[in-house]
Amino acid sequence: MKEFLQDKIFQLISEAADEQQQECYVIGGFVRDIFLKRPSKDIDVVVVGSGIELAQRVAEKLGKRANLSIFKNFGTAQVKLKDLEVEFVGARKESYQRESRNPIVEDGTLEDDQNRRDFTINALALCLNKDRFGELVDPFGGVEDLKNFVIRTPLNPDITFSDDPLRMMRGIRFSAQLGFFLETNTFEAIARNKERIEIISKERIADELNKIMMSRKPSVGFILLEKTGLLELIFPEVLALKGAETKDGVGHKDNFYHTLAVLDGLCEHTDNLWLRWSALLHDIGKPRTKRYDPRLGWTFHNHNFVGEKMIPEIFRRMKLPTNEKMKYVQKMVTLHMRPIVLSEEEVTDSAIRRLLFDAGDDIDDLMKLCEADITSKNPDKVKRFKSNFQLVRKKLKEIEEKDRVRNFQPPISGQEIMDTFNLPACSTVGEIKMRIKDAILDGIIPNEYEAAKTYMLEIASEFNLTIS
Ligand code: ATP
Ligand code: MG
Repeated sequence: MKEFLQDKIFQLISEAADEQQQECYVIGGFVRDIFLKRPSKDIDVVVVGSGIELAQRVAEKLGKRANLSIFKNFGTAQVKLKDLEVEFVGARKESYQRESRNPIVEDGTLEDDQNRRDFTINALALCLNKDRFGELVDPFGGVEDLKNFVIRTPLNPDITFSDDPLRMMRGIRFSAQLGFFLETNTFEAIARNKERIEIISKERIADELNKIMMSRKPSVGFILLEKTGLLELIFPEVLALKGAETKDGVGHKDNFYHTLAVLDGLCEHTDNLWLRWSALLHDIGKPRTKRYDPRLGWTFHNHNFVGEKMIPEIFRRMKLPTNEKMKYVQKMVTLHMRPIVLSEEEVTDSAIRRLLFDAGDDIDDLMKLCEADITSKNPDKVKRFKSNFQLVRKKLKEIEEKDRVRNFQPPISGQEIMDTFNLPACSTVGEIKMRIKDAILDGIIPNEYEAAKTYMLEIASEFNLTIS
């Protein structure tokens, strides 16, 4: 394994460790990622002894090039060298109490330290001392599990998960990120211990969810969350999408699997985390708006608006950002049906202008979301939708070039309306502004100052106004 420790830093740590007569290993994610050929810049080093002392020695050897930070309370230290970050920590033994995921920590051996790791693939260690440089220590068959794409805990999974329930989320996240399978015992232990998730902070759960969202196929993670029962506890609104009812022989699609198909489809076209969240939440209002009408079948009237209103509560509870990121997700959810409705009707310039006005700079994202939302099993239908969609895109481009209504600014200001008619600030000013905006969006007048001014003077009599 020496060939994977080419970077000079490993040679340096090796020398430092030998000088201090400390046993020392690279461990965890970095070693796993060597086997997976995923380049990584975070290196964890375990020392049987003091991690801080070894880090100090390494930093001394590097001189000015390196940056040393010491975290006395945690007994750890970090050395930064260009884009590399090396964490040094003493090997430790952990024991847990039921109420907390913070263990009681004692000094330990390498074996103790490997026992406290979450998964076999995360417990691999490579020795750095000169006489054993590059030797792999793999007590739980982690390499075999890597070959077989398996996520498995090193010890009894019930204890591993109950000790630190965040590991359940991590296991599912690794399955999604790496495309691995949860070994049966490990899977079943998550299902048995799911309630323990309640001792984990919302922020940490959100971190893991975001990593699932950023994986190539997030559905893998959400299906595991659902199957283990965790989804019900951390995200009941998404679980509520699951299931398909039938009445009078009329069914509707299962919105959980539909949502996941939309999400996976969208992920092929964007790395924007919040656009991905918009896909996950686009139909979140459907369970609350579902009705059966003998004439119309199943309807979900206004599910987009209901969904939009559910989002602040969800983001607050899950400790997701409640800033402009959330507003963007709300906007996407509200508007998610607009392009598709357009593509079903005759595409009028006025409808296109209104869509551009409402979506602004997010129009391209909205189109991506909307296109991913076409998941019908009927290939003819999909083909028809997609070609109508091309038409909408083309029109959007034409109208935007012609009328520039994206990020529309009214050509006549409220102040000018007040000055022209000698009006105080009042609702009439707003109404006139709105009429001008509508006239532009409906294509009655062009998006230009002179035309808007003429139009304003024309409609003045309707408001019993005269020029001052
Ligand atoms: P990533 O960096 O992609 O999140 P990682 O496996 O490197 O994945 P880190 O959080 O960087 O995860 O942790 C480094 C190592 O520390 C892991 O590989 C694992 O051995 C160990 N580890 C991290 N979190 C836990 C945990 N909750 N329980 C047990 N071991 C853990
Ligand atoms: Mg890491």
